Amino acid sequence: MSKVRTALVIGGGIAGPVVAAALHKAGLQATVYEAYPAASNGIGSALALAPNGLAALGIIDADAAVRAIALPITGTAISIAGKNIALPGLPNLPPLQMVDRGDLHRVLHDRSAAAGARFEYGKRLVGVEEGLEGITARFADGSTATADILIGADGVRSTVRTLIDPNAPKANYTGLLGFGGYVDADLHLEPGRMTFAFGARAYYLYWAVPDGRLAWGANLPAQNYLSLTEARAIPAQEWLHALRETYAGDTPGEMLAERTTAQSLEVLGAIHIMPPVPHWYRGRMVLVGDAVHAPSNSTGQGASLAIESAIQLARCLRDLPDASSAFAAYDALRRARVEKITKRGAKLNHAKTPAPLARKMMQLVMPIIFKAMNPEKTFGWEQRYTIDWEVPLEKSSTVSTSTP
Ligand SMILES: Cc1cc2nc3c(=O)[nH]c(=O)nc-3n(C[C@H](O)[C@H](O)[C@H](O)COP(=O)(O)OP(=O)(O)OC[C@H]3O[C@@H](n4cnc5c(N)ncnc54)[C@H](O)[C@@H]3O)c2cc1C
Repeated sequence: MSKVRTALVIGGGIAGPVVAAALHKAGLQATVYEAYPAASNGIGSALALAPNGLAALGIIDADAAVRAIALPITGTAISIAGKNIALPGLPNLPPLQMVDRGDLHRVLHDRSAAAGARFEYGKRLVGVEEGLEGITARFADGSTATADILIGADGVRSTVRTLIDPNAPKANYTGLLGFGGYVDADLHLEPGRMTFAFGARAYYLYWAVPDGRLAWGANLPAQNYLSLTEARAIPAQEWLHALRETYAGDTPGEMLAERTTAQSLEVLGAIHIMPPVPHWYRGRMVLVGDAVHAPSNSTGQGASLAIESAIQLARCLRDLPDASSAFAAYDALRRARVEKITKRGAKLNHAKTPAPLARKMMQLVMPIIFKAMNPEKTFGWEQRYTIDWEVPLEKSSTVSTSTP
């Protein structure tokens, strides 16, 4: 049984509410401090939860509530230079679940609060003081809070990461800006059919939703880095112009860009990828989710990995005698898996931004690669991962029972 009884969780996105709920299940107390003023902060867009993420949510009894707000993805295809190739699924696994990010935040908040976690909004962490008896967080509004440990679930531009190690790497910009939208168009696709499309100049994806519209997400190549706030300061009409130029000639990319309106365009800002972080923890502080392992949107695993790590961190804190042994076990359980998935993300990001000649080559080679792909070998180890919550960890058991 751990000496750690209380935790400050910084960040109320995905990892934050999940780690707080799991800590309560493990018998600890957690309070979540979120910089935004409310749970559903209007950040928009949809994201896909993989079977491994849903399985981990089952441990805090949040899977059914998430499925209730989700659209199951019943089939996927890849489209290269207009040629569609169906992607085989993995047998005996439930489908990907597409959720609205704001709805997901609300469900995770409600589940976590029902488990006993407290939430405080409008609390931006700016600094910490560590002592022998605990750690005190300082917030931008001048308030403070103290507990045994502090968990940084504060996303890809984490403040806690720098408090742990001032020399910690920053997230890399992938050279892509994210956009989302819904359009009135009927391609006679069954709801839940999703296509990953490599257009003539840029990547995008689209899927049919039950109300008859099409949802789509665009990855616009852009040399200059823009934060979410900076990207949103640019008028939507300018972004629409750029999207229409980029996807001109693509089917159905051109139509998706043409029919997206300034009101329905969701501007999501720069897409990041985290290089390996040497120090996941120090003293009473530890990182979870995108703060330590953002694999980029290309993997479709960022949120699912954040959920898995949150559960495993709580499990380590439940079973190991103190913060340092729990954090060391957590690092050992998680690092190989998340770094392997991030490497896959980096490769895919390169494929989304090739030079013109490489793009031509890609159009020839990729259909052959995808047709020959063994989905079990490529995705099985990612998506079949489960956590043995009931199995206690021992101090020496720093190696995962699941293959990384
Ligand atoms: C365009 C795009 C599409 C994506 N699509 C997918 C997908 O389909 N599937 C998938 O699995 N993943 C996807 N991802 C990745 C996914 O969004 C992240 O992996 C996931 O949100 C990580 O959760 P998190 O809780 O670690 O971080 P976040 O969700 O970023 O939450 C961090 C929270 O911390 C708060 N915060 C930050 N700093 C402070 C501070 N100093 N004090 C207090 N609070 C703070 C923030 O306001 C935020 O609410 C996508 C990402 C992008 C950008």
